[in-house]
Amino acid sequence: MWSLKATCTVAGARYPQIPLGLITVAALLPADWECRLVDRNTGELTDADLDWADLVMTGGMNVQRPDCLAVIARAQARGRPVAVGGADVMSEPDVYVGADFVVVGEAEGIIDQLVAAWNAGERRGTFRAKKFSADITRTPVPRFDLLRQADYLHYSVQFSRGCPFTCEFCDIIELYGRVPRTKTNDQILAELQALYDHGYRGHVDFVDDNFIGNKKNLRTLLPRLKAWLEERDYPFEFSTEASINIADDDDLLQAMKDANFFAIFVGIESPDPEALVQMKKKQNTRRNIAECIHKIYGYGMFITAGFIVGFDTEKVSMGQAMIDFIEETNIPVCIVGLLYALPGTQLTRRLAKEGRLHNGHDLMKVEQAGDQCTLGCNFDTKRPLRDILVDYKAVLDHVFCPTAYAGRLSRLAVMLDRSDRCRDLPVGDMRKRLGGIDSVHKIMRTLPEVREPFWKTFVEVAKTNPGALRYIVMLMALYLHLGPFSKRVISEIDRRIAELDGMPLVRATESSLERVQVLLRT
Ligand code: SF4
Repeated sequence: MWSLKATCTVAGARYPQIPLGLITVAALLPADWECRLVDRNTGELTDADLDWADLVMTGGMNVQRPDCLAVIARAQARGRPVAVGGADVMSEPDVYVGADFVVVGEAEGIIDQLVAAWNAGERRGTFRAKKFSADITRTPVPRFDLLRQADYLHYSVQFSRGCPFTCEFCDIIELYGRVPRTKTNDQILAELQALYDHGYRGHVDFVDDNFIGNKKNLRTLLPRLKAWLEERDYPFEFSTEASINIADDDDLLQAMKDANFFAIFVGIESPDPEALVQMKKKQNTRRNIAECIHKIYGYGMFITAGFIVGFDTEKVSMGQAMIDFIEETNIPVCIVGLLYALPGTQLTRRLAKEGRLHNGHDLMKVEQAGDQCTLGCNFDTKRPLRDILVDYKAVLDHVFCPTAYAGRLSRLAVMLDRSDRCRDLPVGDMRKRLGGIDSVHKIMRTLPEVREPFWKTFVEVAKTNPGALRYIVMLMALYLHLGPFSKRVISEIDRRIAELDGMPLVRATESSLERVQVLLRT
């Protein structure tokens, strides 16, 4: 879903975001180690790359596992030792025992041990960091210099790790803990300065697990960020992800507005209070979520949101309830997925205790890798799986229907108050290619079915809220990917339903591998 391929093409990019983890690891390595970055999202890994390297370092998230294992095998076949680390290794290190070096945990705590072992001539080893204890106030500025700027829609930085909440399905709290650790304000400003000095201008995403997880520290960062931006005539605009309780804090919303935030991802998951209680997402209960979202629009920031289908408490009416809720909130980009029991989570532990996990529930097949929408329900569901899939399909059908999508954009534009933030995007901002009328024409040429509703919305917003127009057009540009992608997901769900009905399979799953690798020369 997040590869946004067609949208990247319009902007001339290859992938939405940078491999921040890898360039952070690269910065932690000795200065005299020469690094070559091969980002598998934007380019191929060649035999020449492998032959150049003394040591191959790779890693990724759960969805990247098949590719990561393939790279390990390929590098070793060419006689290159491999070190593997990252989020999936932290969750299930045993899967990676074939690698020469296995690094389990946050790099800041143990990378020095790997380097020392390598320098001492060791060629195998496992290194385990103490959980939740890496001191990220000592993390160096990531090696932004290893990136090819034109390849990416936006850049990323990270202020904090961890989240104070307890959502049952979430692996963040298992990997990074429930006491959010932050970098210092000076560190973040140094990272932004490095981006600025590199000539980057435009969208920067704070990839924190929950940006407001440590409000105390955040409150001190935001005014510094505002002053830094002002001094440089606003070279960056920011997005991030945060829990819905951000809406309770007017001062924080104002400070984020002042610091030029324009978008926030929020995990809403379900409109059903019973499901929210069961998944231990208490912060979403006892509140009117639609009102919270509308309030955030009033600060000039739009919301993208995650939803999940497949919880134990769901009832037959869930599909329509989710559709109604999404319409009420006016959130255009909704990431709707099937519940997936990730390794090491409370959910997985509960399902294991209840004997409901499927065999091989954590073994991702190559053809499934990278697709969070068609995977899911890797356990015995309480409701018949067929009913869940039918509901899921109905939600996707509605949410990504061009008329419904354009309708939410129109209503969002009415609420998105950009009246006192009407400055131009900086020169060099990639989003200039996405947010203008040329982009609208390209979208309508590529997807004739959106022509009428999208044009109507464009004209309406141009007349009534021109300050919001470029964001509305950017969200239209996302539809270039999301529209066709949702159709592929729906056809895969149809295939799963047909399978349950005992009908023959029609086609294989399409995969969208998201891959990154880093190579090193010592
Ligand atoms: S709020 Fe988000 S990051 Fe925090 S526990 Fe819940 S799902 Fe995880």
